[in-house]
Amino acid sequence: MEKGEKLYEGKAKILYLTENPEQLIQHFKDDATAFDGLKKGTIQGKGVVNNQISITLFNLLKKRGIKSHFEEQLSDNEMLVKRVEIMPVEVVVRLVSTGSLCKRYGIQEGLTFAKPIVELYYKNDQLHDPLMNDDHVLTLGLATAAELAQMKQQALQVSAILREFFDSIGIDLVDFKLEFGRYQGQILLADEISPDTCRFWEKGTHRKLDKDRFRQDLGDVEKTYQEMLQRIGAKAT
Ligand code: ADP
Ligand code: MG
Repeated sequence: MEKGEKLYEGKAKILYLTENPEQLIQHFKDDATAFDGLKKGTIQGKGVVNNQISITLFNLLKKRGIKSHFEEQLSDNEMLVKRVEIMPVEVVVRLVSTGSLCKRYGIQEGLTFAKPIVELYYKNDQLHDPLMNDDHVLTLGLATAAELAQMKQQALQVSAILREFFDSIGIDLVDFKLEFGRYQGQILLADEISPDTCRFWEKGTHRKLDKDRFRQDLGDVEKTYQEMLQRIGAKAT
C-alpha cells in the first residue's frame, strides 16, 4: 500500500491518503496529550500497542456483527481503514462512575450503573468538546435523528460486547469514547479503541490500566500499555 499525502495530523494519529480514494492509512503515534491538550508527553511504544489493540477489538466486534472502518493491518503501528466523514459527535459510554462525571454531578467514584450512561460531546477542540444532548445534536445539524439513533444503539452494543470480553480477562470496563463516520449512506464505527480512549480497572484491585496513568502521573505508563496489549492479545488468540 503506497502511502500518499498526509491528510490530517491529530494529537495521537496521522491519516494518510492512499491510491484508493476510499481508503486511508491510520498511523498511530507515541505522542500523548491530556486535559484538553494542556499536558503533553510521549508514551514509548503506545502507537504499536494502540494499533494492535484497536485491530483486535475491531475484529472482535466484527465477529459480533458490528462493522467498523478497519480493513487490514499494514505494520506494527499502521492500519488501512475506510475513509469516512467523521461525525462531529463523540459518543461516550459510562459503566462505572469516574472522572468528569463525578465532578459534574457530585457523585462518588466506582459506582457501577444499573444501565450504561450514553453521553454525547461536540467534537470541537476550540469549544473544548462540550457535553450535548440529542436536541443540541439535531438542532445544530450534526447528525440526523436516524444517524444519532444508530450511533447510540451501536455504542450500547459495543459496550455489551467489550464489557463481556474485558470481564473474561479480569478487567472492569469503566468507560470509553467512540467516533463514528458516514460511509456509503451508513454509519460506521471509526477511529480507535485503545487504552487512550477507554478506562480499564483491574478487577478487585482497581489498578488503573489506561491513559489515566499518564494523566495522573501514576507511573509505569509504558509498562501498563504493554500489559494491556499482552492481556488482550493472549485472550484473542
Ligand atoms: P484528534 O487529535 O483530532 O483527536 P487523532 O490524533 O485522534 O485526532 O487523529 C485521528 C483523526 O482522524 C481524528 O480526528 C478522527 O476523527 C479521524 N478519523 C478516524 N478514523 C477516520 C476515518 N476512517 N476516516 C476519516 N477520518 C478518520
Ligand atoms: Mg482523537
